[in-house]
Amino acid sequence: MADRRRAIPPLIRQLAGDPLGLGRSAQSERSARLAPRTAAADRVVQSVCPYCAVGCGQKVFVKDERVIQIEGDPDSPISRGRLCPKGAASEKLVNSPMRETRVKYRRPGGTDWEYLSLEQATDMIAERLIRTRRETWEEETDGGQPLKRTLGIHFLGGATLDSEENYLIKKFFTAMGALSIENQARI
Ligand code: SF4
Repeated sequence: MADRRRAIPPLIRQLAGDPLGLGRSAQSERSARLAPRTAAADRVVQSVCPYCAVGCGQKVFVKDERVIQIEGDPDSPISRGRLCPKGAASEKLVNSPMRETRVKYRRPGGTDWEYLSLEQATDMIAERLIRTRRETWEEETDGGQPLKRTLGIHFLGGATLDSEENYLIKKFFTAMGALSIENQARI
C-alpha cells in the first residue's frame, strides 16, 4: 500500500488529503521504513532523572534486560515529557563504553592512577574510617558534658544515590558520631 502511494507523484499525493505537504505525502521511502528505537523494547520502566533537583520523569526502555533508551515521561507532572540535554543523554550513564567501572586510586605523592579491586578499596576505606574515628573521637567537653562525636569524618553523597541509600548512609554515619553528612541526591 505504501509502495503504491509513493508511485504517485508528490503533488498528487499532497492534493489527496495532505494540503500542507507535511505528512505522508512528503515521506521518502527511507523515512517510511524508519521505526523508533523504543519500538523494540520488551518493557518500559518509569523512573526519575538522577542528575538534579528538578526530578524530571523518565521512561526507561528495556530489551533483553538491558537499557536501550531513556526518554522523558509525559505522565510526569514535573517535566511533562521533557528532559534537558543532560537528562536526555542519561542512557549513556548506563551504556557508555567510557563509563568507569573500576576503582581508581592515586596514592599520596603519586602521579599516576592505579586500579584496585573493589574488595581492596573497601578494606582501605574501612581501615581509614575506623582509625580516623578512633583518633578524633570527642567523648565530652572540657566541662564534662557528653559530646560523643567526631569532627574527623564527613560524608558528601553523589547525585545518583537514591532515598533508600541516603537513609542508610545517614543512619550509618550518625551512628559513627559524624556531624557533617550531606548529599546531592534528588531521587
Ligand atoms: S532532565 Fe535535566 S533538568 Fe530534569 S532532572 Fe535531569 S538534569 Fe535536571
